[in-house]
Amino acid sequence: VTSGDGTNVQPDVICPLCGGRGASTRFALSDLPVRECGCGMVFLYPHPDAAELVEMYGPGYFKGWGGGGDEDAAARAVKQLTFSSQLALLAGTVEPGRVLDVGCATGYFMEVAAAAGWEAYGVEVSEFAASVAAISFGDRVFQGTLEQAAYPDRHFDLVMLSDLLEHIPEPLPFLREVRRVLAPTGVLMIVTPDVGSLSARIMGRRWSHYHREHLHYFSAQTIDRLLGNCGFTVPSIAAAPKHLNMAYVAAQLRLHRHPVLTPLAELADRLLPAFLKKWSLPLRCGQMLVLASPSAERRA
Ligand SMILES: [Zn+2]
Repeated sequence: VTSGDGTNVQPDVICPLCGGRGASTRFALSDLPVRECGCGMVFLYPHPDAAELVEMYGPGYFKGWGGGGDEDAAARAVKQLTFSSQLALLAGTVEPGRVLDVGCATGYFMEVAAAAGWEAYGVEVSEFAASVAAISFGDRVFQGTLEQAAYPDRHFDLVMLSDLLEHIPEPLPFLREVRRVLAPTGVLMIVTPDVGSLSARIMGRRWSHYHREHLHYFSAQTIDRLLGNCGFTVPSIAAAPKHLNMAYVAAQLRLHRHPVLTPLAELADRLLPAFLKKWSLPLRCGQMLVLASPSAERRA
């Protein structure tokens, strides 16, 4: 296995962005090869099949980051800070109307959007997470895929894809479906790992966003091209900071125990005053935030 210098060309691998053959192998993620095409697209091939993906997104997947589990309060607080700062970026661009969160998980973004005056809808493949979100939002949560939800044309003023696009097996048809359900004056907001980010370049194969359920790794350049192919223009791509605080870090370390860090975090959790534990910092974690709108020529 060699890095992406073209010395290990795989003619049978087809690039999901340009359709070209001959992507090289960057490295293997346990047993899954990370490929890089000459066009810059980075992706897993082969990737886990549909049955394996369904298995992966069981209740443990959501409880693993705090959603709907024992550490729900800590996770909700920091994730909602991140979501409200993202939603605030749209002030003056699009008025609150119908918003669809695809991959809504247990509904944290929907809660933030509803509080900001939006009529919030969610799509979620996980039965567990969808059932938690439905406690607050009832039949505005659809359990299944976006395609299965079959929303009317031009139905939403905002579509949110937060930590979602990298999980989608076929991003082109998926984004064309997003384009169909989005109003001509609507906005698409995407938050996804940026494989061209400084952290990705520094960390190499140890970059924290390489996972077997992350099937595609976009950069500013490849996501711009992908969105262009799906009927969008991209007015803005920027780094997407995530809010983190001590209460959330401690909660994560209770869920994923570490021999040294977990006792340290528990000590800090006992000693620090509550206001300090909840004091949050926006940190750059190698993710980008993309704003896109439907291209004029496809409106007719
Ligand atoms: Zn390509």
